[in-house]
Amino acid sequence: MAALDELKDYVREITEISLAAALAAWDQRTHMPPGGAAARAKVAGRLERLAFERRVSDRMGELLAAAEREGAPAEVDRALIRVWKRDHTRHRAIPPALYQKFVETTTRAESVWEKAKAASDFALFRPHLAEVVDLVREIANLIGYKESPYDALVEEYEPGLTASALRPILGELRRELVAFLKELERGTHPRELPGGKFPLDAQRALCRQALGWIGYDFQAGRLDDAVHPFTIGVAPGDVRVTNRYREEDPFSSLFGALHEGGHALYGQGVDPALAWTGLAGGASFGIHESQARFWENQIGRSRPFWQFAHPHLAQHFPTLASTDPDDVWRHVNRVQASLIRVEADEVTYNLHICLRFELEVDMVEGRIAVDDLPARWNQAMEDYLGIAPPDDAHGVLQDVHWSAGMIGYFPSYTLGNLYAAQITETAEREIPRFWDKVEAGQFSPIREWLREVVHRHGQVYLPDELVRRITGDGLSAEPFLNYVRAKYGEVCRL
Ligand code: ZN
Repeated sequence: MAALDELKDYVREITEISLAAALAAWDQRTHMPPGGAAARAKVAGRLERLAFERRVSDRMGELLAAAEREGAPAEVDRALIRVWKRDHTRHRAIPPALYQKFVETTTRAESVWEKAKAASDFALFRPHLAEVVDLVREIANLIGYKESPYDALVEEYEPGLTASALRPILGELRRELVAFLKELERGTHPRELPGGKFPLDAQRALCRQALGWIGYDFQAGRLDDAVHPFTIGVAPGDVRVTNRYREEDPFSSLFGALHEGGHALYGQGVDPALAWTGLAGGASFGIHESQARFWENQIGRSRPFWQFAHPHLAQHFPTLASTDPDDVWRHVNRVQASLIRVEADEVTYNLHICLRFELEVDMVEGRIAVDDLPARWNQAMEDYLGIAPPDDAHGVLQDVHWSAGMIGYFPSYTLGNLYAAQITETAEREIPRFWDKVEAGQFSPIREWLREVVHRHGQVYLPDELVRRITGDGLSAEPFLNYVRAKYGEVCRL
């Protein structure tokens, strides 16, 4: 027992340092005056280094080996060993000099990417991206994999998932969505809602109210403005959300609040016994995203939700009082093929991800050169969405991820959508009169159910294991495809 206790003490120390870093990061992105920036970067860098040194230390290796030898009868303790061992092994595989080179290269690549995007100049970014891809492949080789170097990368975000497991699922999704998009062209498209200005304070009030509806606990968190919305846990019992507001559109902030609120409910719903163990995060990026997409799309963009929410919307924004709930429901579910991933709707969004997944696997496996990316990108946009980017700023240069070395991250977005549909399908079966509850604004039985089946477990289960426990089935595109076909068939009156 002694070895496990020693490991837990060490892990607690790392967690404390990481939470101090999280608070510094939250402040930096919400309230810090510009004058604090330089010093904050130093403090944040120091905290990160202190935590990192412990994660990869010889002592961590010894504590893990001793705890494994001793054996851990409790499931939670076995998970603690699994999670920290994976982290330790992956990061130990990368020599410090190579890691340093990776940090420097991606920092430089990211700042060049910003300029290249602004000037729509792929040639400027190309050599930097080639350097990043080479480094990422070198790192993947050091970490090790069975089939594809991509597997070593995607493992960082979705433990247990591989390129060969993803390929058929995303392939089916792509084929079906491309065909469905063509069908939707025959449908009727929703009429425009009254435009105008929607005061920011009214938007903030509605967002606070919406967070309250879904059960976000303001005694264990807070809501602030930020340029790029995010959710962050800064302590057990303190999970904060942020949001942004645009005067001409009251819906993007509302869906932003529901999205971030979904992430935050996950953090607030973790079993308190998991505090300080490193297991209080999500099972994976995809599972975390599923909780955000559940409240944003499955609930927030549903017809019953707007039956409930419409009077509140009209109260905050009197110019929308002349609309009816179905007008709003149709408006928030408009489908339109577009160039930019972050602005895409539910039907087309995953096609943007399929394209990125195919390109990054080919890049990492060495089947395409960085030079060929823009042409491949534009061809895929044409094939999947029927539109071609006018320039690389609206094409291959639009996302920050590759410049930051985050290759293998994109699938998590789509996994979130697929898992959310699988979880909703199960909730409809297991929660009596599910949609009546949504229409009545009775969200607490739904949140309690999610807490029971998803939130409280934190990282105790691997994503595949968790999804099987909840739904009885592994990852599948089928529930999502059924969901979009049914809903958008109705929205567009097919
Ligand atoms: Zn998210």
